[in-house]
Amino acid sequence: MDRSHTERAARVASASLQGHPPAVSAVVCETYDLEQVRRAVTTALAPLGGMKRFVRPGMSVLLKPNLVSAAALDRGVTTHPAVVEVVAGLVQEAGGMALVGDSPGGPIADNDRVLSGTGMVDAAERAGAQIVRFDGVAWIRHGGADYFVARPVLDVDLIINLPKLKTHVLTLYTGAIKNLFGVIPGTRKREVHCRAPGVIDFGQALVDVLELVRPGLTIMDGILGQEGNGPGVGGTPHPYGCVVASADPLALDTVVARALGYRTGEVVYLEQASARGLGVSDPRAVQILGDRAALDFGPLDLPKSHWYFRLPGWISKPVHRGATIRPRLSAAACVGCGRCVEVCPGDAIALEKQATIDLSRCIGCLCCAEICPQGAIEPRWSLLARLIGIGP
Ligand code: SF4
Ligand code: SF4
Repeated sequence: MDRSHTERAARVASASLQGHPPAVSAVVCETYDLEQVRRAVTTALAPLGGMKRFVRPGMSVLLKPNLVSAAALDRGVTTHPAVVEVVAGLVQEAGGMALVGDSPGGPIADNDRVLSGTGMVDAAERAGAQIVRFDGVAWIRHGGADYFVARPVLDVDLIINLPKLKTHVLTLYTGAIKNLFGVIPGTRKREVHCRAPGVIDFGQALVDVLELVRPGLTIMDGILGQEGNGPGVGGTPHPYGCVVASADPLALDTVVARALGYRTGEVVYLEQASARGLGVSDPRAVQILGDRAALDFGPLDLPKSHWYFRLPGWISKPVHRGATIRPRLSAAACVGCGRCVEVCPGDAIALEKQATIDLSRCIGCLCCAEICPQGAIEPRWSLLARLIGIGP
């Protein structure tokens, strides 16, 4: 199963990239007014050949937004429904059948609540698209590890990836490649976090998923994103004011990560994807089309952890072992909803009236902080990390 599937995924990707150097197209878009978003997406796609270059009549096309939780839209956590509605409309105009689906960080039973709470159900209805549930799974053995992937992801002709532009306290940045982690349904994500707890191992898992699903087109919602300790409600909303598109998710991430202020090599999974031949991680090798000024983000509050990756290897390896990050619970903010318990891969969280965290079982994945609707869990660096200044 793994071989035939990855070959198919690679064919889809190479069909999108064929004959084209890595190109990323960016345009300014400052509001979610539907007409402005439509103009921005159409303008971003024009130099890439327009939607009709990617969508042929009769194709089934899955739109994969970032729907990690049902956070309020003004928190900049999830892909905005206006972007989904516009892209779904363009797919339909090109003769494709648009489907919208994602799996939140919590259990599959949360799917409907998150899909409606993030505005996806209404957006899909307005665009004539269909919502798909990520509850059927396929088992794929890949890279020596087992992955459970939502069945609809494997059944469609094309995936259009619709990530949100955010900083990420663990991986530093989340965009095109990281968004694909949502194809692993619900709490199945816990298994991956458990066997790949650190930035390096988790990066390899993210690249495994990229190899498995290979979107043919990525259109990033960078209109309102996050800086600081994203990607959940612990992050700070930031108006990046852009839409960015590419047939190459790694090229897109490379360009956006550089625009955020990261240096080559800092966002580990981009290097790992490049090492596997899944695109380029050198921004000089990527052609930037459209409006370069759309990627002029200015100074940002990046997760402090990014300084760690600038250290030489002989320092960074021992630091990596000692400078850990763990969740810290604010009892005053916890309402005892239990969502953190459901996502915790280490079974480290117990719940009575409120959550309590057993740090001896915690692997530091920060899924709990990501999912908590109250922002009651924040990352806390170890004493060593704070002493050497890589953690706040
Ligand atoms: S910490 Fe957050 S997710 Fe966990 S029970 Fe409390 S409010 Fe819910
Ligand atoms: S307590 Fe939070 S950070 Fe620790 S393993 Fe569980 S989900 Fe991950």
